[in-house]
Amino acid sequence: MKRIACVVIVGGLAGMCPDAPKPIDIIREAITADGIRLGVTELASDEMGGRFFRSPFAEKAAKWIEARFTAIGLGHGATADSFRQAIDEDPETAPNLIARIEVTGKGTGFIVISGHYDHLRPKRSGADLIHNGADDNASGVCGMLAVAQAMQALIAKGEGPACTILFIAFNGEEAGLRGSKAFVKLPTVPLSEIRAVFNMDMISRGAPREIFIDGGPVGDPVVAALKVANETIQMKLRLNEHPDWLDRSDQGPFLSKGIPAVLFSVEDHADYHQVGDEVEKIDAALAAETAQLVALAALNMSKESFVPRGMAAKVAEPVAPAAEPKLAEPVAPAPNP
Ligand SMILES: [Zn+2]
Repeated sequence: MKRIACVVIVGGLAGMCPDAPKPIDIIREAITADGIRLGVTELASDEMGGRFFRSPFAEKAAKWIEARFTAIGLGHGATADSFRQAIDEDPETAPNLIARIEVTGKGTGFIVISGHYDHLRPKRSGADLIHNGADDNASGVCGMLAVAQAMQALIAKGEGPACTILFIAFNGEEAGLRGSKAFVKLPTVPLSEIRAVFNMDMISRGAPREIFIDGGPVGDPVVAALKVANETIQMKLRLNEHPDWLDRSDQGPFLSKGIPAVLFSVEDHADYHQVGDEVEKIDAALAAETAQLVALAALNMSKESFVPRGMAAKVAEPVAPAAEPKLAEPVAPAPNP
């Protein structure tokens, strides 16, 4: 798609195009509360059975996410012809799902937008048995999908990201971060080239317009980008108040490898890991605004220069000393006391 042509009036407001939509306007149009609610309604329905690890329900959710990736027009990110990254050899285990928006000829590196799609097995007794996991974590998956939609809209208007973006729906988070651990063990892109990880896990049940963001010292570059983006979004950011959350979701394995990563989350609530975590109770506007914040920060970050981690250090490293022992150099005489 072409940019909207601008007539630049000589001597007028050179360079300004009054009709061109700003990236934030494109993002706000693409990421809406209604869109998030619709997605969560499907992904957290009783038919999805709680999407628990190693179940046909997780596989059903995986197929739903693959269909969304395809509808949004994303490329395969696991292999050349698949979204599926196996996380172990058990045939019952549904995979991680990885999609990408390829950006060629511009910036280097990769930005990861993620959320886990698995949840919990049903309760054994009671009136309601199914752990729907609307907030945990259909909200994060739908936030991730909404960011993908926004990136596609930005590209269509000539305002797209300057580096490749990966969209990952992790499996096995509730079973011990199984999917994200598998990813960092056998990554589909070099870990040193991952610029940032934006991991959303429970983004729809808290105080209005307020989100907790935790990445610790390693996550600081991502937080810096989020602070700038938030000058536009204007949410209340609760930064690094929960060091106890750093290894509690899928950002953990990335942080442990020194990759700048952050978690977006709300505080544990009354329905946390309960059958009452249902779509009727989510604040879809909170999830949408969080996804807008992620989209804008990731877009801005993609345009910054980037050197793969480890490369800068290598360039600056002193030349290794020669293997041959040097002749002893004359020692400067000690000054007289
Ligand atoms: Zn979760």
